[in-house]
Amino acid sequence: MSTIFSQIVEGEIPARIVYEDETTIAFLDANPLAPGHTLVIPKEEYERLNDLPEDVAADLYATIHRLVPAVEDAVDADATTVAFNNGEEAGQEVPHVHCHIVPRFDDDGAGPIHGLFGAPEDLPDDELDEIASEIESRA
Ligand code: AMP
Repeated sequence: MSTIFSQIVEGEIPARIVYEDETTIAFLDANPLAPGHTLVIPKEEYERLNDLPEDVAADLYATIHRLVPAVEDAVDADATTVAFNNGEEAGQEVPHVHCHIVPRFDDDGAGPIHGLFGAPEDLPDDELDEIASEIESRA
């Protein structure tokens, strides 16, 4: 079964499409967190960032790069929060990779994404070294 976003790609359900090319498409979020809240997706259905082939990832980023200033200018935003909920446990509801571009305003009071977690974890140096090396060996 195709995702709701694939149905938008196929034109089966309506959306306010703001950009489209061969491999990506961007449209307004139906439940905007701020005016201009835009989603950017690959047209092909991949659930998570981890699943994207490199060429699709590059195309997706190129569209994000194009849309961030377009969205900011269109709604006269001061800044943007650009984020992926990558996986169900991270809050991803639609299993089709999508980047949220959320316009931010001086007085919106939403704070940084750090606000999701509260205080930072105080990890000992040896654990940080171990984690860094585990990531480095896989990157
Ligand atoms: P996430 O929680 O990261 O999976 O976000 C899914 C986003 O998709 C939410 O912000 C929804 O408001 C948005 N959304 C769901 N259905 C539609 C739709 N038909 N058109 C536009 N945005 C949608």
